[in-house]
Amino acid sequence: MYQSRRIVLAQRPQGRIKLDDFAHDHVALPPLQPGEMLLQTLWISIDPAMRGWLDNRHTYLPPVAIGDPVRALGLARVLESKSPSFTPGQVVRGFVGWQERFVSTDSSAWDLVEESDAAALPTRLGVLGMTGLTAWVGMKEIVDPRPGETIVVSAAAGAVGSVAVQIAKAAGARVVGIAGGAEKCQLLIETLGLDAVVDHRSADWREQLIQATPAGVDANFENVGGLIMEAVIDRLNDHARLALCGLIDGYNLKTRPPGPSNFGLLLTKRVKLQGFIVFDHFGRAKEIERSLSTMMAAGDLQAFDTIVEGFDTLPEVFASSFESRHVGKLLVHVG
Ligand code: NDP
Repeated sequence: MYQSRRIVLAQRPQGRIKLDDFAHDHVALPPLQPGEMLLQTLWISIDPAMRGWLDNRHTYLPPVAIGDPVRALGLARVLESKSPSFTPGQVVRGFVGWQERFVSTDSSAWDLVEESDAAALPTRLGVLGMTGLTAWVGMKEIVDPRPGETIVVSAAAGAVGSVAVQIAKAAGARVVGIAGGAEKCQLLIETLGLDAVVDHRSADWREQLIQATPAGVDANFENVGGLIMEAVIDRLNDHARLALCGLIDGYNLKTRPPGPSNFGLLLTKRVKLQGFIVFDHFGRAKEIERSLSTMMAAGDLQAFDTIVEGFDTLPEVFASSFESRHVGKLLVHVG
């Protein structure tokens, strides 16, 4: 009989994540029934959205129940299978959760990852996974950058932002990234060739944004919200587009903040704003993954991953992910 270690939600976080919001437990796994698979978790993706899934609010997914493993996307290897869809040894992608092994009762929830592909496994959670899909939908389909336009991307050195800026550059736009700290800003300029950066940790970041956008902003890929989003709204041109991807600035606040104080500018500037959730686009994931792979092969798209080793690190890595030290996609390697 197989055993598994799990990290479960012990209590609902109040504000910032604390390590005692989680508890470790150990379970015996039941024998497989027809249609089921035994999976061994290999990689776990750390995503800001996981913070919202721990609150007692139903949004686009139900809240994680107290006592359940923390919900997380990842990759797993099939150890045993009574499902006609997968065979032992194959790698699958889906919601693995914070657990080392588990029984999946629904094969349709998994997507086969070909290990023979040129891309390394972690890339299949980052640039060629949910992260890349998010950047593609928001940048290509909502922002729709055109040559010469000024596009501003916040959290530009993060997982989604670092892909979004490269898609906008490849489309010929003038791309301005907002990031925290000199190291991330240097990466955006020197490695990714951005046209300008704004270091939101500098005292003069508002002035930097004005200097970086002399012709205003034609479109914004927004990952942060709060004061950063307000400052970008001030710079939007008439008929600008705004892809609302994330509002990470407020995820750890006890009370969700009200909207931007200059909300009215969205009306007077006739801005077209669209929020989006990547899960609505999973049906097109393979097709978009092929487009992103083509960009990678052409040298137009680089992958940035920050990898941490060990299952036990998960609560700490997740809690510290909001302190913004990592570049690109943050992943925990489990097995
Ligand atoms: P990452 O953790 O890779 O990057 C997030 C970055 O946000 C941090 O590295 C940090 O960068 C920046 N940040 C964090 N807090 C603040 C703050 N208070 N003010 C300014 N910047 C901050 O996350 P992802 O790239 O995966 O996600 C980015 C956004 O996209 C999040 O809001 C997330 O929820 C959203 N998202 C939305 C999806 C959708 O379907 N709509 C799907 C996936 C992600 P720095 O050090 O530069 O400040």
